[in-house]
Amino acid sequence: MKSKIVSVLLLLCLCLLLVLPSCSSFALYEKFYYDLFDTITVIRGYAKSSSDFEESCNTIYNELQTCHKLFDAYNEYEGINNIFSVNKNAGVSPLTVDGRIIELLEFSKQMYEKTDGALNVAMGAVLELWRDCREKNENKLPYEDELKEAAEHCDINGLVVDKESSSVYLEDRNMSLDMGAIAKGYACDRVTALLPSTKLTAALVNLGGNVMTYGEKPDESGWNIGVNSPLGEGNLFEVECSDLCVITSGDYQRYFVVDGKRYHHIIDPETLYPGSLFCQVTVICENGAMGDALSTALFLTELEKGMEIADLSGAAVVWVATDGTVYKNQRAEELIFAGDEI
Ligand code: ADP
Ligand code: MG
Repeated sequence: MKSKIVSVLLLLCLCLLLVLPSCSSFALYEKFYYDLFDTITVIRGYAKSSSDFEESCNTIYNELQTCHKLFDAYNEYEGINNIFSVNKNAGVSPLTVDGRIIELLEFSKQMYEKTDGALNVAMGAVLELWRDCREKNENKLPYEDELKEAAEHCDINGLVVDKESSSVYLEDRNMSLDMGAIAKGYACDRVTALLPSTKLTAALVNLGGNVMTYGEKPDESGWNIGVNSPLGEGNLFEVECSDLCVITSGDYQRYFVVDGKRYHHIIDPETLYPGSLFCQVTVICENGAMGDALSTALFLTELEKGMEIADLSGAAVVWVATDGTVYKNQRAEELIFAGDEI
């Protein structure tokens, strides 16, 4: 009789153990925003209630919106000095700016060195010519001599960042900054920093291909991130992440067509034309700003040199060459599990 009771108790314990995880009081919620960084933002997170989720989303959104305004090179906003203001003040005088601008500009200068100039946030003059043609979409490319003239005003040494006085100065009147290659990744880092103070136990933020993941789900698994294949339908690979960023640059995201040929938005500072080595580069690493900077820079860098930069940075990288060949470095090999295609 006694052993029967013990067996029943054991069975009960086992049932409880099986049921408990699914009884977790945290549920998964999702929210979309359409007004940040010219792309779609998705926030996914585990919270105890929808009101906890909403409250946390507001905190995240406020930070993202501040970053969006600070790093906007094309619009001004009342009451703040942003990248547009810095550009407007080029050659005039230093401008006092938010500490986030100082931090990201200093980091951008480091990434310029690390990538041997492939990532150059001071390339605004050249990028603007391409942006104009893309937006007008009149079957026209920027003029060669205009590109060359603009390239004369892209020297990153003319970007003077003074941390002490929290000010920025562009020495060349015709120079301008464009933070498009790095700002979304940095915004992801800002979200990572504030997530512990929110009511989310685990979260994923996708800023148009810049994904950050935080924490483990209630079942203790990470977030499963699928990276679309640039060559057709479906995923190129999937990777399980927690506390990692997955950032992709591709030639299919923003482009325009001239005489049947596609011209995308990642511009090689050497040739002043869109990079032609790869059609997609994905970077997986802890730091979003670094991942974003690398995804753009490695898109423009020969594979061998790119591998060196990736390894030195401790990032996992997957490249898809324009002929469709897929390459990955050692860390990517270790991190990615489902890729029988690659
Ligand atoms: P996305 O912004 O589509 O996620 P990227 O992170 O690769 O893609 O950034 C591309 C943007 O970065 C361009 O739209 C442009 O504003 C800027 N950019 C393009 N080429 C360069 C470059 N060589 N260095 C710095 N910024 C660049
Ligand atoms: Mg980038």
